[in-house]
Formats: sequence, structure tokens, C-alpha cells
Amino acid sequence: MSSFIIITAVTLLALGIAAFLIFKKRSHKAVVTQSSQPLTDNYQQLLQQQVAYYQKLDAASQARFQGLVAEFIQTVRIEGVGLEVDDLDRLLVASSAVIPIFGYQEWRYKNLTNVILYPDTFNNDFQFEGESRNIMGMVGSGYMNGQMLLSRAALLKGFSSQSGKQNTGIHEFVHLLDGADGATDGVPEYLLAHEYAQPWLRMMHQEINRIEKGHSDIDPYAATNEAEFLAVAAEYFFEKPEQLQQKHPEMYEQLCRLFAQNPAADL
Ligand SMILES: [Zn+2]
Repeated sequence: MSSFIIITAVTLLALGIAAFLIFKKRSHKAVVTQSSQPLTDNYQQLLQQQVAYYQKLDAASQARFQGLVAEFIQTVRIEGVGLEVDDLDRLLVASSAVIPIFGYQEWRYKNLTNVILYPDTFNNDFQFEGESRNIMGMVGSGYMNGQMLLSRAALLKGFSSQSGKQNTGIHEFVHLLDGADGATDGVPEYLLAHEYAQPWLRMMHQEINRIEKGHSDIDPYAATNEAEFLAVAAEYFFEKPEQLQQKHPEMYEQLCRLFAQNPAADL
């Protein structure tokens, strides 16, 4: 009799634990689903007004872009130092993140928890070894792992009509993409099939050579190293695709392959 009670009690306990685990799993799932709520009307309006890349997409791609922006805003903390973060700031950070990965349906930034906005360049607040350029953005490493710092002034300028070939937000997210394989070295191994890495490096070194001789229209900062070359070339690719295609057809083609996108083509 007593062993029957023990068996019943154990069975009930096991059932209870199983029910709890199932419930827990369900409620975890619910949180995940909840995290991709649709974008508010204000965000949608801002996207339409401020993000040229988004304006060129067809309706289905716009819906997908919105979903990725919403997911980003709900999963990465965007904070301000000495400023109040508003909807436009959040939207432009998220758009900078989504644009470089839009060709890859499944890609998510794994090494990012916070984006910290500063009012302007922050070379006076941080010391960087051998860096004289005003810092407009950086991806943290070491104790700053998972953090991205961005100048809000540079972020806004990148999406304005005066941005030219520059977009600081895109630049920093391309560094993150590049570093996802463990090395921020201008060769994003997850995106670039092995056989294309050598031609990409060769082309990159030729162009760095031209930049150093003053024979290139690419921002000289690209000649700093391979990682900066990739980030600067990506800004040009997404901001002025037609111009890049015309002036640097081979580079354009390689970047189309790397990002799985063709921004100069009519959509
Ligand atoms: Zn950089």
C-alpha cells in the first residue's frame, strides 16, 4: 500500500515537473514571438521619409525590412550619453544594422547588446592608440565587448541627402559583420565563399595602392587597413551604388556577391 502511495506521488511529481517545463518552454516562446511586434506608425513614417534604401524596396521587401528593424529595436538596447534617444535615432541605428545583412535572410548580430549614442565625435572622451581621426563610431572589444559607440551627428548625417558616399552607421555594422568570424580583417568569412577571398584581397590591395598614390575617389581612410577598406567600400556601395558600379565595376561586382545584394539594380 505504502509503495503504491510512493509510486503515485513520484508519478504525480514527474507529471508536475513535465507540465512546468512545458509551460516554461511555452511562455519562453511567447516572449520570443512578442519581441517581433510590428513597427509603430511613427517608425513606419520615419522609414519612408528618412531611409532612401527603404524607399527603393518593393512592398514585400519593405515589409521584411520593417520586421527586421522591429526585431532589432526590441532586442538591442540603444542608449544615449548626454542626449535623449528618440525614435529617429533608434530607427537609423536599426536601419544601419539591417541594410548590410538584408541579403541574408537568417543573419542576426550575435555579438551586440548595446548601442551607445554620443552627441558628436568622441575623440576627446576616449583615448585610441595611433588614432588622430575624429572618432565617429567604434565597435567595442575586450571589456567593451557587445557594445557599439556611435556619434549621433554622424549617424544622422549618414542618412541625410548630404551624406555623399559616407554612412557611419553602416560602416560600424560592417565591422561587426566582418568580426563575426573572430577576425575583423576585411574578409567576412561567413559571407564570402572561400574561393572569392583571394580575388577580393587582391582587388582590395590594388585599390589601396591607388588610394595611396592619390588616384582613387575612395575615402583615403579606406587605405588604413583591410578592415577599414571593407567598411568604407560598403558605405560607398550602399550610398552611391550607381557611381561605384560605374567607376569600380569589379569592386561593385565583388561587393554584390559579398552582401548578396545589387543596390544599383532597379527594384
Ligand atoms: Zn572603421
